[in-house]
Amino acid sequence: MMRTTPTELLQNQTVRTALQSAWDDSSPGIAGAHEEGGFVLQRPDGEIFVQRWPIGGENQISVPVHPNCRIDENDILASFHTHPNTGTLFLQEPSTTDKRAVRDDPHLKGILYVGEYVIANDQIYLIRPDGDVLKMGRRRELFEED
Ligand SMILES: [Zn+2]
Repeated sequence: MMRTTPTELLQNQTVRTALQSAWDDSSPGIAGAHEEGGFVLQRPDGEIFVQRWPIGGENQISVPVHPNCRIDENDILASFHTHPNTGTLFLQEPSTTDKRAVRDDPHLKGILYVGEYVIANDQIYLIRPDGDVLKMGRRRELFEED
């Protein structure tokens, strides 16, 4: 199967809608803000879909087990989580823990896996499988919010 680039994957409407829903569900910038996240998955027939993770805490979230970079027969193309706290006490960009969690996870090394998107108020970042961070663009522009 052809590897999708992180930019192409963000242009997929299913993925965009799911990332935007996760952002909205994490109550950004208000009391009760908490992390949300999930996997972008591809079925054997090529269809892309998203499976959300259980609701996270104020600044952490647990990733369900995902042996061999798969959930059942579906390949993990990407993972994502939100950083909904907009206050100055909170880091907007991916934390060292975030980067290590991706880089050091042997089960996030499938050939189709592009990395973990981190959705913050201003930017959407990508933690690549090697732990490096890229800026994918401004959240409002990528989601085409008013
Ligand atoms: Zn994080």
